[in-house]
Parts: sequence; structure tokens; C-alpha cells
Amino acid sequence: MKAEYSMLSLLIPGPQSPGNNIDVYLQPLIEELKVLWDLGVETCDASVKQTFQMRASLLWTISDFPGYAMLSGWSTKGKLACPGCNYNTNSTYLKHSRKMCYMGHRAFLPMDHKYRSNARDFNGRTENRPPPELLKGEDIFDLLEGFNNAFGKTKDYEKARLDLQDMGIRKKLHPKELDQGKKIVFAKACFSMTTKEKTTFCYVLKKAKIPDGCASNISKCVQLAERKVSGYKSHDAHFMLHYLLQVAVRSAMSNQVAHPLIRLCSFFRCLCQKVIEVADLDILQTEIVETLCRLETIFPPSFFDIMVHLPIHLVNEVRLGGPVQFRWMYFTERYLGKLKSYVRNKSRPEVQSIAYYGSITEIVEVDYYGMLKFVLFRCDWFEVEEDKFGLTCVYFNKRCYMDDPFVLASQVHQCFYIQDPSNPNRHYVMKSIPREFFNLNEQSTSNGQQPYQCDPSDHPINLAVSDETREVEFDRNDIPPTIIVNSLRGSDEKESDDDSSFDETHLD
Ligand SMILES: [Zn+2]
Repeated sequence: MKAEYSMLSLLIPGPQSPGNNIDVYLQPLIEELKVLWDLGVETCDASVKQTFQMRASLLWTISDFPGYAMLSGWSTKGKLACPGCNYNTNSTYLKHSRKMCYMGHRAFLPMDHKYRSNARDFNGRTENRPPPELLKGEDIFDLLEGFNNAFGKTKDYEKARLDLQDMGIRKKLHPKELDQGKKIVFAKACFSMTTKEKTTFCYVLKKAKIPDGCASNISKCVQLAERKVSGYKSHDAHFMLHYLLQVAVRSAMSNQVAHPLIRLCSFFRCLCQKVIEVADLDILQTEIVETLCRLETIFPPSFFDIMVHLPIHLVNEVRLGGPVQFRWMYFTERYLGKLKSYVRNKSRPEVQSIAYYGSITEIVEVDYYGMLKFVLFRCDWFEVEEDKFGLTCVYFNKRCYMDDPFVLASQVHQCFYIQDPSNPNRHYVMKSIPREFFNLNEQSTSNGQQPYQCDPSDHPINLAVSDETREVEFDRNDIPPTIIVNSLRGSDEKESDDDSSFDETHLD
């Protein structure tokens, strides 16, 4: 994906999204595509100085999710919001939260998977349905045949608890009356965070030293005092998901909450590798289904908007369209001029050599009279350990291989370290940094020189360790519940919309 191979073929004016009127703008493009498909156009091939009949076809389109709806005509809102699951989209309307949620990911599990018979941790029922079948090209063709294409026309949290009560699941989280119903007690859910935990979470993001050119200054988006993360761009979100959240989550949340979130992070990291083995796709699909199921046992139904469901179809999209990097939005967004280049300070480069982790203290060039040249790094190597989530960490205070400090530049990969907030000497290793994924500096080195490090692929795929199935603790009994005045009482019709002090909304 390079700018010189891209062409702007259509520009839709106006500050607002065109909605269904996109048809009007697309009509001329479709006309041209039809000509290119049926007849082709005479084109000059400069390399052989001859003309030929060029034909073209549309392989796929890349759009964000609302754009997908406009372009495909399949609504991405409401009951059947998932174009992948189409008529079998699994949705439930939440009366109190007043929105649709998309759960039921157990249907994607193998028929004999143990989660299918676990009613308690899920929706109170066992699950026997097979996964929704994807529409094939022929199915869509049949559906659209003869279609007349006429051109031109929380306190969320309080509600979430009431929804749980309605569904009759996770009793510990149901609102309970106090003082003859004058007050309502809400036990803290297992994923709620104390002020201190939120500070720890933000601290990890704030203090992470990120390699040059990978992401904008995420640190600047973290307001420690307010415990807020805001103003980051979509590629920053991806970067956080791939490399930072796992450490933040592990440091600030209980194991049962941290585990599926860490698995979600490593799923995305593995899925987005530059090189992906076809054989790994099945493993990744199993992984995302189990992870989404696990999340269903922890977060309330209102959390499961359509965006949480969509990862379940991403593996199949890789099967159809190849590695993510050729299809994702970053390039497009950059091409549209939405992204600026970011400049970051160079920090001390940190390296990984096979399974040794260290940092460079000196760079030496050995020159044999201009006949032969080598670049060597002198490194401090650190002791390595794997934690229970499968994350690799090193101890900066425990050096090893002191008598073997040199390594050839060609033998190392760049990595970076994220400090553990509970132990300043322990740092989590983030291995492969897919340079081109996040390469937001203007077209970098194309002078034919190889950068000293090659891009390590995360292969064999390096998924987080899956968690042992034990009963989910739905609430947190180590922190006091939230008690509110019962405003629902005697005013059944009135919806209270005040922003009381619930803190279970996710960080924005
Ligand atoms: Zn779906």
C-alpha cells in the first residue's frame, strides 16, 4: 500500500456523511467499473511501448463500520446489525439500557465445548445452536437478483443491572433495596476499579517508553490526575491494544477480568501480523470465540454492542482477503490526510536477541580495511521470566551473560519494555513491533539500506495463556457497594437520567 499506487477517484463534498445518497456519488464510478469489466479501455504499457485492453474488477472495499452499511446496503444497526451473521445475528433488546446487545458467542464454539453447558456463568441457559452460516457470494447474488437499485434517495450502569435482573442472571449484581426500599444497593461488579487501580492503569500507559515512529505520544493522552485517557487516534488505540493494555490490565484488575482482556489483546496482535500462516487461522478463531464467551461472563449485556461482536468475523476476513495490513484503514486514513506525522524523541534502543533481552550500551563497527564490515552491539542482558498470563518480563536489576556482551546487529530484533507499576525493576517485554503497520512518519527510508533489525514475526503465534475455568466471581466484595436513593420507586414511568457516581463505564 503505497501512495504512488493510489488514486483518488471520488470526492464526496460536505461536512456530513452522505447516508443513502452515497448511491448518487457512486453511480458514475459504477458505470466506469462496468465498462472496465465488460469492454476494458485501451491503455499504454510504457514498459513495452504498446497498447493493450485493460480490464479491471473490484476485489474488495475498505470502510469503517457505518460506511460498510452505506456501501453494502445492509444496515449495521438494530436487530440484524452484523452483515457477517446476517439473518442469524444474535441480538437482544435491553429494556433498561434501551439498546441492542450482541452476545451468544457460545454458538461459535465447537458443539462439545464445556462452555455450552455452563448456564450459570452465561445467560442462565445452555447453548445448542450452531454458528450462523456466512453468506456465500452466490447467496448474496441470489438475494440481490432483481433488486431495484433506485439511485437518489450510564448510569448506563444502573440500567445494566436492571437488565441483568430482567434476564435473571448474576444475582449478586441485582439491585437490592435498603431502608424499606428508600435506597438501592449495587454491589460492585468484578470489573469495577478503585481510584487507586485506575491510577495504576493510567500510570502504565503514561510511563511506557514507546519506540520511535510507532504511535503518537500516547503518554500525552493520559491525564494521571483525572485518571483519564483521551484524545488518542485510532492507530494509538491499536497500539495500546497490542502492546500496552495487557500490562495495564494485569496490574490493575483481578485475574479473572485481566485474563480474557489479555487474550483479546494477544488475539489482535497475532491477527495483525505481517505474515500469517493459514494453519494458525483456526487457532485464532478458536481463541477469539472463547475469549468473547469469557467476556460475556464478566461484562454486562449492555457492553456487547456490535463492535464487540465483530472480531469474531475477522479471522474469516483474513482467510478471504489476506493479511490485515493490506485492508485496514490506517493507510486510507493517512492517504486522506487525516493523520499527521508524529515526531518522537529517540530513546535508548532496546533489543531482543532470540530469547535474550537487553539494552544496547555501545555500538561498535568492525572494519577490516574496507574489505568487510560488521556492526556489533554491546549489551546488558537481563534475566527473563514468564508470568501466569504468558507475558514475558525481564528484571533490569538482574543482569546475566556478563561475559558475553556482544551481539551482531543482524542477530537482533528491536523490542521495548513496559515497567510493572508494582515492581520498578520488572519490565514486560513487547516483542515484535510491526514497523510498517504503524509507520506514520512520512515515507521512511527507501534508500535501499536495510534497517539494522528485521521485523520479527510473532511466529509461532504467541497467544496469551488461556485461563483455567473456574466459577466466575461476579461481584467484588473487597470494596463497598454503591448505594443510591431509590428514584425508581413510585415513579416507574420516569427515567432517571442523572449522572451519579458510577464508575463502571469504560475509560474513554
Ligand atoms: Zn456476526
